[in-house]
Amino acid sequence: MQMARLVLIPILSSAAVLAQPSDTGTAHKAAATALLNSNNTGAAHLACPAAIFPEPSANPPGGGPPRVAGAPGAGRGAGGRGATPPRENWYAEGGQVFDNLYMLTTKANSAWAVKTSAGIILIDTLFGYAAQDEIVDGMKKLGLEPAEIKYIVVSHAHGDHDGAVKFLQDTYHPHVILAPKDWELAARQATPYTHDMDATDGEKLTLGDTTITIYITPGHTGGTLSFLVPVKDHGVPHMAMEWGGTALSGNTSKEMLQSYISNAGRFRDIVDGSGADVIIGNHTEYNDALARLERTKARKPGEANPWVVGKAEVGKYLTVVEECAKSWLAIDEGRP
Ligand SMILES: [Zn+2]
Repeated sequence: MQMARLVLIPILSSAAVLAQPSDTGTAHKAAATALLNSNNTGAAHLACPAAIFPEPSANPPGGGPPRVAGAPGAGRGAGGRGATPPRENWYAEGGQVFDNLYMLTTKANSAWAVKTSAGIILIDTLFGYAAQDEIVDGMKKLGLEPAEIKYIVVSHAHGDHDGAVKFLQDTYHPHVILAPKDWELAARQATPYTHDMDATDGEKLTLGDTTITIYITPGHTGGTLSFLVPVKDHGVPHMAMEWGGTALSGNTSKEMLQSYISNAGRFRDIVDGSGADVIIGNHTEYNDALARLERTKARKPGEANPWVVGKAEVGKYLTVVEECAKSWLAIDEGRP
């Protein structure tokens, strides 16, 4: 390796000088920045180094999302059993966004109920303290029955996504699916939930008339899951994608950054092949989801569904987070 470098540097010096700027942290961050819009700015905000981005406009009326509760990793390992913050800091009204997809949400985090002909698949569960208000009561308000939850699929074992798993598992006895690596994380929580099903990469999870596809995309955690979820809007089919773990930091290992980058690229190809034209996420700020939900509720007959953003925007979202990860990696490798 060293030898190769010594030989190559003199030969490629002029090319290297030209090529280098495109592979620095600054250049990758600039590549992400060039693609920013309301579909991805919040994701970049948590994935890219340094807060160079404007705050996304996801702030709900009456105050911004609780940055502490919503911060990456907040509650991780705690099973969401930390002190319950005041309700007004986190409570948000959920809503139906497609014929078969419902957003159960706090100001900071979202879970998704996929309604099928044979019950409900729940993707993520929010912090434990929000279980009653946002999952149980939230579902009932939307005409869904929590006892119909047949599967809980957890994007990754951080408390803001799996905090309510134990309560829901104990109460309604659904199957719980995580990647093996994140079952290891979950087992280290203070009050772990019961190990159930291991996700596999490319797994097709079918319940009744609906099949979601699960991909293991390590990077944010060792077993982060990402999803393709078929949805319908007044009967018209669309495909939603969720990138299940987004935030990176200076503490993210080089190995995890490399994994994040390769999986973001791989998932972008998968998503492209699937025709996905809808972005969903598990933090509301990623794609301005609270404002999008409000627009959905105010939607008039004949108006487009605010969640249908088109294939190009879905690909762009994954390019943005990939460029953010490349930026971190370049900085790690001494190319700031
Ligand atoms: Zn997380």
